[in-house]
Amino acid sequence: MKLPIYLDYQATTPVDPRVLETMLPYFTNTFGNAASRSHAFGWEAETAVERARGEVAALIGATDKEIVFTSGSTEAINLALKGVAEMYKPKGQHIVTCSAEHKAVLDTCKHLEKEGCEVTYLQPESTAGVTLEQVRAALRPDTILVALMWANNEVGTLNPVREIGALCKEKGVLLFTDATQAAGKIPVDVDKDNVDLLCLTAHKMYGPKGVGALYVRRKNPRVRLVAQMDGGGHERGMRSGTLNVPGIVGLGAACRVAQQDLAKDIAHTARLRERFEAKIHAGLEHVHINGAVNARIPGCSNMSFPYVEGESLIMGIKDLAVSSGSACTSASLEPSHVMQAMGVGDELAHSSIRFGFGRFTTDEEVDYAAEQVIASVNRLRELSPLYEMVKEGIDLTTVQWTGH
Ligand SMILES: *Cc1c(COP(=O)(O)O)cnc(C)c1O
Repeated sequence: MKLPIYLDYQATTPVDPRVLETMLPYFTNTFGNAASRSHAFGWEAETAVERARGEVAALIGATDKEIVFTSGSTEAINLALKGVAEMYKPKGQHIVTCSAEHKAVLDTCKHLEKEGCEVTYLQPESTAGVTLEQVRAALRPDTILVALMWANNEVGTLNPVREIGALCKEKGVLLFTDATQAAGKIPVDVDKDNVDLLCLTAHKMYGPKGVGALYVRRKNPRVRLVAQMDGGGHERGMRSGTLNVPGIVGLGAACRVAQQDLAKDIAHTARLRERFEAKIHAGLEHVHINGAVNARIPGCSNMSFPYVEGESLIMGIKDLAVSSGSACTSASLEPSHVMQAMGVGDELAHSSIRFGFGRFTTDEEVDYAAEQVIASVNRLRELSPLYEMVKEGIDLTTVQWTGH
């Protein structure tokens, strides 16, 4: 077993060897510009791009013409939100989203607010998910777009996308979903799931970094966007710029492999997570699982270890590559915006760790990780005066603290 152990699959994934093998010729022999129409180099590149487009479309139940290649999810989110806001401005300027979304969505919404849009930020439940009723209550006659993630990247919670999509359809509002953590991890079907726009990125599904796609519905309804990148008119004018051919080939291969192996990947990662959580529960008291325990993407386990500081725990488990719910996006010790939105309280937020299991994680790694976590939490709790009080049976919520 090689150390450190990678348990951060929600941050990024290694490239699957099958994906790499498919990509390699497109760096060297088949290096053409997919927009070159006058020779075989261009034609071969174009053929490869169109094959990849079909593979991406197939994974999510779309048609080829509905796929726009981008540099990843962040760009696809910007294109979807800004493109819709600009195009549908005459109809309305109200957008509904949630404060537990990824920063790429939240910051794009902040930008749109400066441009005159009005944004409703739903307050999620303590699981980080939103309910159909919350969305229904937020819709207005001038609402043009609902933007809600399929699976949360910090705790893995799934939103009821299909139901929200049906509601949006009924009300004539577009639904964009950030499926970065869902595509290739759970079944996704843009028709059955009533989605109008969807983003995904290769590097979260065993493909290369810097390439992704935006799905844009062409029928029932036909969604129109204002391009955010001007230039040569690539991607049906929706995203100019010479196509990243090897990257796109890699994204296509990642989608093909994910579709082939979906059931196997789900079974593997769900089993590993169960194994890990069972070992942790057997070895430690006072462990809290963050997110919707029964409605999560399979490979994600976000746990809080009260009476232990998340950062100290991360220091204590140096052999494990994981991320913590505090100091996640900055050097400060602020809990992440997701933990804050969940309202789980500082104790749980500061002691939370995200463990991500993937296609290449082994039982041996999971067992070693659980042992490391148990030993480290026990060691830190032994040093904690709070935990001493808990062990003595004192209810900390009843303690009158002085000195502050
Ligand atoms: C990683 C991630 C993004 C950003 O994707 P990039 O391709 O890295 O820009 C957006 N949303 C979610 C939910 C993510 O997990």
